[in-house]
Amino acid sequence: MRVLLVEDDRMIGQAVQTALRQDGYAVDWVRDAEAADTALSAGRFDMVLLDLGLPGRDGVWLLRTMRGRHDTTPVLIVTARDEVSDRVAGLDAGADDYLVKPFDLEELGARIRALLRRSAGRGESVFEHRGVRIDPSTREVSRDGEPVTLSPREFAVLEALMLRPGAILSRSQLEDRLYGWGESIESNAVEVYIHGLRRKLGHDFIQNVRGVGYFVPRTDAQEDR
Ligand code: CA
Repeated sequence: MRVLLVEDDRMIGQAVQTALRQDGYAVDWVRDAEAADTALSAGRFDMVLLDLGLPGRDGVWLLRTMRGRHDTTPVLIVTARDEVSDRVAGLDAGADDYLVKPFDLEELGARIRALLRRSAGRGESVFEHRGVRIDPSTREVSRDGEPVTLSPREFAVLEALMLRPGAILSRSQLEDRLYGWGESIESNAVEVYIHGLRRKLGHDFIQNVRGVGYFVPRTDAQEDR
């Protein structure tokens, strides 16, 4: 999952970036609203963590700009402004949720997971598919009830594929979810993670369409829906 972090406070930004990277997110960090606007116009993000009080244009401007061009990327406002009117302005401008500073990093993680679930149209917090069960809050994975140990990046690949069974993700879409700006990407990294996942979860669990990408096949029940 790729997160755009918009935060001008260096200490908060660093703490959030470090915590989210440890959780396996790809995090790109910008310090102002216009840089965020440029980043959002150029690439795809799974969500935005947005500080409202920024130098120059503020977070509400960014929200209005995004929603004005029908960018529906989920936005979680993270702000020191505890005035009710600021939060209302942010939500009215199109934010999906908010968190008031100072906040607990664990609460931030839980809100991000909830937002990503909602944006994928899934209410449940644990995903189960063809005998494989993953819990994004604890990062526990099991296959037919037996625990499976995955690296953080294997987990990130599996989570992205299991959020939308049947949807094909290309290698570059998976790389986007694994690496932030400036992180070097080994050329065959995705293949290595897919190989590891197949070894641990069964070769057929993840399938590929040559030259297109990877997917987890839907079950018959899902096809009937
Ligand atoms: Ca700020």
